[in-house]
Amino acid sequence: MACIFASLGLGKNKKSSGFQSSGADLQAVMNTVLDGLIIIDESGTIQMFNPAATRIFGYQPNEVVGRNVNMLMPEPYHKEHDGYLKNYLTTNDAKVIGIGREVFGQRKDGNVFPMELGVNEMQVKDKRMFVGTVRDISQRKAADTERENMTTKLLESNTELERFAYIASHDMQEPIRMITSFGEILMTDYSQALDDTGKEYLRLVVDSGARMRAMVEDLLAYSRMGNEGANFAAFDGEKILGGALENIQELIKERKAEITPATLPMLHGNPVQIMRLLQNLVTNAIKYQPKNNRPLIHIDYEDRPAEWCLSVKDNGQGIDAQFIDQIFMPFRRLHTWEQVRGSGLGLPICKKIVENHGGKIWVKSTVGQGSTFYFTISKNVQKTLEAS
Ligand code: ADP
Repeated sequence: MACIFASLGLGKNKKSSGFQSSGADLQAVMNTVLDGLIIIDESGTIQMFNPAATRIFGYQPNEVVGRNVNMLMPEPYHKEHDGYLKNYLTTNDAKVIGIGREVFGQRKDGNVFPMELGVNEMQVKDKRMFVGTVRDISQRKAADTERENMTTKLLESNTELERFAYIASHDMQEPIRMITSFGEILMTDYSQALDDTGKEYLRLVVDSGARMRAMVEDLLAYSRMGNEGANFAAFDGEKILGGALENIQELIKERKAEITPATLPMLHGNPVQIMRLLQNLVTNAIKYQPKNNRPLIHIDYEDRPAEWCLSVKDNGQGIDAQFIDQIFMPFRRLHTWEQVRGSGLGLPICKKIVENHGGKIWVKSTVGQGSTFYFTISKNVQKTLEAS
């Protein structure tokens, strides 16, 4: 190998401060670097092959020096390399030289492997030479493939789960409706036929039916949520908020809630989903209040360059900081059904909707003072969805 350094004119010590670029020094560098280094001449003949290249390809230097570098390449690189080099020498049209890219190499045992190849040209006296840096990336590629396979499997099982949740909740609706409807008929028309214990049992049946119904309806909504991204349009935020408040007007009246909404701007997204999102947040703001507390709810927004940030502020019970991350997960409730009715899916539905709109949802809360739920919707959500 020393001869190549000598022929490169690097054999003699040159005066310099610090590192001396002598042939021996460079030899030491070549021997130490972790990447394979291969030097070839204009005709593609290997002039130098360092120990790392030996580790990667399995050839000793004396088996490769003096031979064409294409022996280290599988097809089609093997056949194409001579032509590529000739073309480069006449036109300077580079595909690898000075650029670097991922290609395949072939080891002595025939094994083909992915490698990162960087090639740079150098002028040695009147000769053009090329230094190739080779890094074996088969382990990294194998890890990438494994990760991709796992992601694909995860996505498949998620879709499968959503389909299952959709079918199960859809098909469960009917029998639950029968249980609650006939239970209610029994309660009104046949309660005189039951003693107090019988009446209490019946009340439990109807109540459980209502609870099941709430859960199944929300589960259905939750599993549907992922597939509705296509219906995006510009819509009037004020109208959609008005619709959401109208849908829960009974609750608003019953709890004498005072709602002060800002005049929301024109927004972009799926209006039905945003209506549901606002409805869920305002419902919670009213529901999770100490008894006899008059709910005061303020709805506001901030117009940011790339997104809108909406907020729903209440004067309710607040949420203990340790539970704040949990409440956006399915079926995580901080209240029992008896305390406050709910499915435990209201906020997970909100989260899905917000994510469909390229946004985020979070809450700031102080126990005993109230909570403010914030969510963003991207102004470029159409593009975000197309790109994904
Ligand atoms: P649910 O459908 O049961 O209301 P959510 O997913 O909407 O379920 O909310 C999850 C839990 O987060 C609730 O059970 C409640 O304990 C808590 N929570 C949600 N919103 C509020 C709020 N505005 N103030 C206090 N607690 C809240």
